[in-house]
Amino acid sequence: MAESPFFAPSTLPYQLPPFAEIKEEHYLPAFERGMAEQLREVDAIVADPAPPTFANTVEALERSGQILERTAIVFFSVAASHATDAIREIEKEVAPRLTKHGDAIHLNRALYARLKQVTTDDPEEAWLLEKYRVDFVRAGADLSEAEQERLRELNEELATLGTAFSQNLLAATTASALVAEDAKELDGLSETALKAIEKDGKYVLPLLNFTNQPALAELTDRETRRRLYGLSTGRAPENFGLAVKMAALRAERAALLGYPNHAAYTVADQTAKTTDAVEEMLGKLVGPAVANARREAEALSEQAGFPIEPWDWSFYAEKVRKARYDFDSSELRPYFELDRVLRDGVFHAAGELYGLRFAERDDLRGYHPDVRVFEVSDADGSELGLFVFDPYARPTKRGGAWMNNLVDQSHLFGRLPVVMNNLNITKPAEGPTLLTFDEVNTAFHEFGHALHGLFSDVRFPRVSGTAVPRDFVEYPSQVNEMWATWPSILANFARHHETGEPAPAELVEKMQAAEKFNQGFATVEYLAATLLDWAWHKLAPGETVEDAEAFEAAALERAGIAFELVRPRYRTNYFAHVFSSSVGYSAGYYSYIWSEVLDADSVEWFKENGGLVRANGDHFRSTLLSVGGAKDALEAFRAFRGRDPRIEPLLERRGLV
Ligand SMILES: [Zn+2]
Repeated sequence: MAESPFFAPSTLPYQLPPFAEIKEEHYLPAFERGMAEQLREVDAIVADPAPPTFANTVEALERSGQILERTAIVFFSVAASHATDAIREIEKEVAPRLTKHGDAIHLNRALYARLKQVTTDDPEEAWLLEKYRVDFVRAGADLSEAEQERLRELNEELATLGTAFSQNLLAATTASALVAEDAKELDGLSETALKAIEKDGKYVLPLLNFTNQPALAELTDRETRRRLYGLSTGRAPENFGLAVKMAALRAERAALLGYPNHAAYTVADQTAKTTDAVEEMLGKLVGPAVANARREAEALSEQAGFPIEPWDWSFYAEKVRKARYDFDSSELRPYFELDRVLRDGVFHAAGELYGLRFAERDDLRGYHPDVRVFEVSDADGSELGLFVFDPYARPTKRGGAWMNNLVDQSHLFGRLPVVMNNLNITKPAEGPTLLTFDEVNTAFHEFGHALHGLFSDVRFPRVSGTAVPRDFVEYPSQVNEMWATWPSILANFARHHETGEPAPAELVEKMQAAEKFNQGFATVEYLAATLLDWAWHKLAPGETVEDAEAFEAAALERAGIAFELVRPRYRTNYFAHVFSSSVGYSAGYYSYIWSEVLDADSVEWFKENGGLVRANGDHFRSTLLSVGGAKDALEAFRAFRGRDPRIEPLLERRGLV
């Protein structure tokens, strides 16, 4: 058998995976060999006659499974960004096997018994040891044989259902694209937009992964808007059934592990700790947010001259925005050219704040010709890591934007990080890629995650970079959004793609004023999705749901967030964050606003301390970004902020006071 590119560490700079050599047929054998190798390594740890120590047990576990790690990290990255049919088949096959493999380690009684005997005085080691113990307990290490058997079944079934959910969704999102025979139906879209979606004399407008499709703001034909909204909210109806099953299985698993419901199980090892804490925070936001959205709706209906429907919201919001703020968001697009946004915006801000430098490495390649690789150096010129950038949407890419690691930083292995950002920007048929301001903001957001990965300076891979509680992980990325509109940064990247002229100051001011508009909508849309996720995962074991759509409606009603004009950002049938296996935000969608409390409070700190200066960047980096998950998350926050977080800056920002 030919040597597989996964069997030995990559010889490329920074151990970048050798994408040019990786073929689809390499994955399955590498997964198999990787799992077998790790189980042998675990057996060797257990069989060690020496008394259990940190080195021969915990560190040995950290060192185990290298082939599996290399394979999985590449495979799941490609499965998210470029899932061909073959990749999807492999995913279906390996997802339950990986779950089984994880259980084989976590439910290994001899290994758990060894772990319990390890002691250490070193604080970094003690923190990791505790993480391992919690992992084992949460995976069911303390259960009886019979209970563990049931747990294994539940985990495998959930993995299979989660994969089916995401694969249905990807297929349905493509299949439910809006098809227009005549360009007239799509009146309102720009020439460039139309050109990009023209196929064989027809127009195919693809769906994005959330409810409120961006084209709704532009389409003048009300019937087309209604049709598009229907396609968006009605996609993948078979996923309702899968969600019902998954919620029931998760509730059963939570009960086995000693929790009243899946939400309680999930938040126990988050910074929130209890469901009460989450509900207390959400409770402060729901009432004022709905009141704001209702006020906005009145203004929109007044503008329309009739009571609007949900599919009219964006269209009239754009009109009110124009009337009230004299601002048309499309006017700014020519000033947001992708490469400029990246180099003169995102990278430039990281240069000002942290002293970073970026050099494109054309000699290094990704899994698709559109993927670009940049070498990142630190302020003193030393090597920091690689940044891999995949900006464009394609039918094989899942929706949304995200960051992932391709190589985890760790001193244990002497590895520098390789991190990656994915966006979903429509690639124009020709000419420059011009972004909306939302897309600009997303680029800054994802790069905030990338910085968290790049600055990681920890010993163990298990706690590297963004390996923090998920109700904390969105915090550094949200903070990085502040630089998108920071005057000196914005002035540096917002230049006309043809003339190089800076964006007119008054246009920028209008955009910032207009940004405050429609916050009621944005907050309600988000909170409704959060409370929907919450309702599914607060189901008690044995509680059954007959009709998923009725459950959805009742849950929103009960939470006080039901407002017929603003539906959840994700309905159950396309809520990939919580039902798809690859994302894993079940009972965790609240994390975004939980993190935003920390974000808004930190933005205040930057402003109080002189904004965009190296000293501020260095402080944020050393106290928070570099420690990854090697320390308690809120302790890191306190080290940065000098006190506990306050919610007031968030309420202020979202107009909820
Ligand atoms: Zn994020």
